[in-house]
Amino acid sequence: MAKPVILTVDDEPQVLNAVERDLRQHYRGKYRIVKAGSGVEALEAVQGLKRRNDPLALFLVDQRMPGMTGTEFLAEAMKLYPDTRKVLLTAYADTEAAIQSINSIGLDHYLRKPYEPQEVFDVLDDLLEVWRDTVDLPYDGIRVAGTLWSPASHAVKDFLARNRIPYQWLDIEANSEARELVEATEQGEHHLPVVFFPDGEVLVEPDNRTLAEKVGLQTEAKAAFYDLIIVGGGPAGLGAAVYGASEGLSTTMIEQHSTGGQAGTSSRIENYLGFPNGVTGADLASRAYAQAKRFGAEILTAVEATKVELDGTYKRVTCSGGDVLSCRALVISTGVTVKKLDVPGIADLAGRGIYYGASLTEAAYYKNQHVYVIGGANSAGQGAMFFSRYADKVTILVRGSSMGITMSKYLVDQIDGDDKIEVRTRVSVDEVSGKEKLETITIRDNDTGDVETVPAAALFIFIGAEPHTELVDGVVERN
Ligand SMILES: Cc1cc2nc3c(=O)[nH]c(=O)nc-3n(C[C@H](O)[C@H](O)[C@H](O)COP(=O)(O)OP(=O)(O)OC[C@H]3O[C@@H](n4cnc5c(N)ncnc54)[C@H](O)[C@@H]3O)c2cc1C
Repeated sequence: MAKPVILTVDDEPQVLNAVERDLRQHYRGKYRIVKAGSGVEALEAVQGLKRRNDPLALFLVDQRMPGMTGTEFLAEAMKLYPDTRKVLLTAYADTEAAIQSINSIGLDHYLRKPYEPQEVFDVLDDLLEVWRDTVDLPYDGIRVAGTLWSPASHAVKDFLARNRIPYQWLDIEANSEARELVEATEQGEHHLPVVFFPDGEVLVEPDNRTLAEKVGLQTEAKAAFYDLIIVGGGPAGLGAAVYGASEGLSTTMIEQHSTGGQAGTSSRIENYLGFPNGVTGADLASRAYAQAKRFGAEILTAVEATKVELDGTYKRVTCSGGDVLSCRALVISTGVTVKKLDVPGIADLAGRGIYYGASLTEAAYYKNQHVYVIGGANSAGQGAMFFSRYADKVTILVRGSSMGITMSKYLVDQIDGDDKIEVRTRVSVDEVSGKEKLETITIRDNDTGDVETVPAAALFIFIGAEPHTELVDGVVERN
């Protein structure tokens, strides 16, 4: 694989050379450092990298440059490389512009000049780790081959992505080499996806537990008894795991799908304490996971707690793999299940253009297309902002008369300022249709009753959630 690139841009040759030298010393062997003396020269370099399909991990850009400012360059460059991390080097007087850029172009960080190299590397190391965790690199790792419109392919990609396991996606309809590889492996069978591992093992249409075991996630508890068992690995469960284990309790957390829960699907959480520039759900989940493990908590992934019973002062939890675990204290942090939209055609197209939640794994496939979002709360707003990085147009369909009632003001402002996003209020979706994948949706105007059927590449649904408490029915009083 070509080494990922870090591109640094500054119009002052001495500064540019010093930054380049520091970067080369620090990232020797891991990243290729490319430099440019102006925004225009840097854009040419970015276009060249894109033509060769080279991975571009990070922009480190001076704000104040003649002709094109750092922010203007980043706004152009991110059209070609939307996932590349963006850091601005600013003078004190440019701080306001940098803060504006956090909202307008999703700047990841700004650093004031003059800077201390160690201060810069602390920030860059963090951002590069997140970039590696969240971006599909053309590397010799796990490869998932399938079709874009197969729900089983979507499920495997979603499981790997939400557990922050890097993989390469091979669309066998677009890539003849991949199709040949799959045909040669399956020998007449037609099951997708096919997952290729670097050690040569191949799994066909694997379930989550098999995948989890293969990629090294723990699926079986090491003991039969714990001080603390936590069911559900969202932010609440992860928090309980960190505090339980850090207090010296033997702790295990049981998660049926992926640590991070709902928060793990968020493209950007802006109101989490301690992250002034916001944090992606994947980043938050990966940090919390690492923290809980460091304190000694066990984390079981792809394991569902199927039954909870009381046994005197102890609690007993039955797991989907058959394990029965006991504990002194049991925390149930099972969160919520997303509500499904109940309209004709929707069930058949789930995973084939219809997605619940932000489905970060799929967004990039809708580049230059028109996608729809249903919902008027924060998760819908965040989803729309994320999709607008890729899609040509994003239409948010809101049942109520405005988004302001249920959405935070900062998001409403971001949406208002994004030319690619259109908001339609007082509407609902009556029907969806398509053969292989979603093709059209039928929208009803709730005031006039008029209906129209429009082409749609994808529909992302964010219509709320219901609590996941059936597990403790009969054990704990529910309301
Ligand atoms: C797209 C999106 C964006 C969001 N953005 C923000 C934001 O910007 N700011 C904000 O404050 N909030 C945001 N939220 C809300 C926030 O993510 C939730 O409030 C938070 O995740 C709730 O945490 P939790 O741990 O209680 O539950 P959840 O995150 O729902 O986690 C529960 C976990 O329990 C697991 N589980 C359930 N049943 C079982 C079982 N029987 N066995 C094993 N595991 C089980 C589930 O798989 C899940 O992983 C967002 C939500 C979404 C969906």
